[in-house]
Amino acid sequence: MSELTPVLAADEIHLLVKNMARRISADYIDRELVMIGVLKGAFIFLADLIRQLTIPVTVDFLQACSYGAGTQSCGAVRLVKDIGVDIRSKDVLLVEDIVDSGLTLNWILGHLKSFQPLSVGVCTLIDKRERREAEVPIAYSGHVAEKGFLVGYGLDYAEAYRHLPGLYHLKI
Ligand code: 5GP
Ligand code: MG
Repeated sequence: MSELTPVLAADEIHLLVKNMARRISADYIDRELVMIGVLKGAFIFLADLIRQLTIPVTVDFLQACSYGAGTQSCGAVRLVKDIGVDIRSKDVLLVEDIVDSGLTLNWILGHLKSFQPLSVGVCTLIDKRERREAEVPIAYSGHVAEKGFLVGYGLDYAEAYRHLPGLYHLKI
């Protein structure tokens, strides 16, 4: 049987998202910011984050597959859905739910850079360093998690738990 242990309550997430939005709004003032959410996990985080920004922003999504139905990376990254907006000469901020090994993020960054944006920054709700394999430049991180598998607030386990307002550690 699976078990959920609370990690961050909805109001704690709201506060850290608000703080992050404040920093991003200050850093990207008078720039042409495009935020790209990584589906599906980042959809709730991105939705909350942009509504706390005080600067204009355009939004797009991409979807990459690195994990199957389990909790381990399935190796090579596959692009399921590419971006549809033109990011050439724009300031791009990639929005991730969680960075674990960093392999997915590394691959996505390489892909986005091929469109020749002015800059590419990374913003993640959770920075999980336990299994980090690739050096990744994270400019904004909401919460550092050392270990475990997290669900809720958009994050899933085999497509379940995304709807939970808080973040939980899942004992599998
Ligand atoms: P990485 O390539 O950094 O190992 O994995 C990144 C992706 O794996 C994340 O975007 C996320 O979709 C998934 N992932 C990694 N750790 C977790 C976790 O603790 N919980 C959930 N739900 N997904 C995770
Ligand atoms: Mg993801």
